Amino acid sequence: MTDELSPRVSPNELGFEGALRPASLEEFVGQTKVRGQLRLLLDAATMQQRTPDHILLAGPPGLGKTTLSMIVATELGKPLHQTSGPAIQHAGDLAAVLSALTPGEVLFIDEIHRMARSAEEMLYLAMEDFRIDIMVGKGAGATSIPLELAPFTLVGATTRSGLLPNPLRDRFGFTAHLEFYDDGELAQVVSRAAALIDFGIAAAGVSEIASRSRGTPRIANRLLRRVRDYSLVHGVPGDEDTVHRALSLYDVDAHGLDRLDREVLRAVVERFGGGPVGLSTLAVSVGEEAETIEAVVEPFLVRTGLLSRTPRGRVATRRGWEYTGIPLPDAL
Ligand code: ADP
Repeated sequence: MTDELSPRVSPNELGFEGALRPASLEEFVGQTKVRGQLRLLLDAATMQQRTPDHILLAGPPGLGKTTLSMIVATELGKPLHQTSGPAIQHAGDLAAVLSALTPGEVLFIDEIHRMARSAEEMLYLAMEDFRIDIMVGKGAGATSIPLELAPFTLVGATTRSGLLPNPLRDRFGFTAHLEFYDDGELAQVVSRAAALIDFGIAAAGVSEIASRSRGTPRIANRLLRRVRDYSLVHGVPGDEDTVHRALSLYDVDAHGLDRLDREVLRAVVERFGGGPVGLSTLAVSVGEEAETIEAVVEPFLVRTGLLSRTPRGRVATRRGWEYTGIPLPDAL
């Protein structure tokens, strides 16, 4: 997958992303249902002067989970502490984070499904009772010392909610499933970002970027940046023609599919007769990590109706076959 189209964030993009993040629920485009649910949750907690329930945000990368965690903290007027599952390798890592929280603080754990198992049990107790037990010593002489924590709100984000153990999932008072954005919403994301970076772009250019962004605001913003660069370097206006030229450099087709999407679909059709094929076999055959296929490629291909998931594996749909241009066997 080209970097432009990977919904994951690259380190040199952090500043750009930060500048474009909506700061309130009202500024956050789309996800109307989730916004309404969050608004109620936050307002009710504020009226009752207590910390809101813990919140789980589930959905593919680049749809606004980090942004929403920041908005939750801003709306509550509380500080935000950000960490991630891979950074919590031991229960001690989590204990250090939890014991440093101030009352009402919002703790954001990105990729919470990748947290060490040993830390999970500590988190259960912390979420439920705002308390942890710290083990001191080893073997027969080991004792546990209870430690009271300041009340906090956990916002967990995951691209794979199915991987979360049930006891953890059950401790979130509210789970939001973020959906891919439609073209109209992405056009709003692009217009808003263009205004923020002070780049004049024609309406037709905005819709063109929106329709090629895989339903993902992060990609929309990134493609906008490429178009802005192109316009700057070549001294041309931000019109539709410039958008076409800039995007054709990045191998994005009219549906927003890129090289890896096409490779996955072709592999299912050509090498596995249209499927069903298991995730790991498919990943090996295109030389990509199973997690990338599952979290990034598959949700998009399923959403565009080119691939379907069945209990026996991934299957190319009739549209999927048509997309590859390979004639459908008679039996299908
Ligand atoms: P995630 O945590 O789900 O990977 P982020 O919250 O980091 O995604 O969002 C990625 C980028 O997309 C950010 O720069 C953010 O500004 C932008 N973005 C995401 N959702 C929205 C939205 N609903 N409205 C406007 N911009 C958004």
